[in-house]
Amino acid sequence: MRGTILFGIDVESASQDTLAFVEHAGALFRELNVPATWFVTGGTLEKYPDVFRKVDGEGLIDLQGHTYSHLLLKTVLMQLPDGITAHGSVGWHMVPGASPQQIDEDLARCQKVFRNALGREATALTTPWAYYRGLGDRPDLLEIVHTHGFRALRSFGRNERDCQPVPLEWQPFFYKPQGFPDVLECLIHDYQDDFYWEMFAPEQDGKNYADHLRKVADRVAAENLTWSLCSHDHHWADRESRESKLTWMRGLLEHALELRLRFLTISGYYEEMRNRGTQ
Ligand SMILES: [Zn+2]
Repeated sequence: MRGTILFGIDVESASQDTLAFVEHAGALFRELNVPATWFVTGGTLEKYPDVFRKVDGEGLIDLQGHTYSHLLLKTVLMQLPDGITAHGSVGWHMVPGASPQQIDEDLARCQKVFRNALGREATALTTPWAYYRGLGDRPDLLEIVHTHGFRALRSFGRNERDCQPVPLEWQPFFYKPQGFPDVLECLIHDYQDDFYWEMFAPEQDGKNYADHLRKVADRVAAENLTWSLCSHDHHWADRESRESKLTWMRGLLEHALELRLRFLTISGYYEEMRNRGTQ
């Protein structure tokens, strides 16, 4: 083995951006025969059920959940490094999390949409914005996501300042100490997308995002790591933005394939980790 990439994309725009993403990103993944996971909000899936039913039927892309309404499960409190502006803020940026009752109702609604649109429920969940420590410090929320059938999570996607990058040294783990040994945290490593890389790292870190990703891939191969990589369906209807995203995606995918890195869906990775008994 030479390292593993879990490429998971949040599909949440419920707009022309979503349709352009499905068409153009879908074509790229099919051309290179690279499996990936698309974490679709219930609201987006509900709007375009036929589009996603077709994707689901093709078998290459694993469709999983991203809540119904994109609510936060935990509060995000970003302590921004000097000189960094994030979401219009300097110093601190806070986005409040929802209540347990709101989360419970939202996840029930998300699963209902999955049943109606795809005839099955989601078993993996990306939690909007993602948090430091994931749900590790919130066993009450682990209970809720477990009750709704989610077994593989991407909820750990920020560092101790609620910022990024998330170091690759933090590898996937099961929530065994919290009493959920069958719930796997896959994290979201590095930066959550090109726009977060531009926010946090442009000066010190190479010429462009594609160069940065190639360097990460080299390290993943050298150290046989698992890399949970994230992007979004944002701005795909805009031609210039789409071309930019397709360029870095293609560059990364082709480089990773040359390195013989494995691409797995989150479902495939979960099965492997359960069978391996890594806890
Ligand atoms: Zn999202």
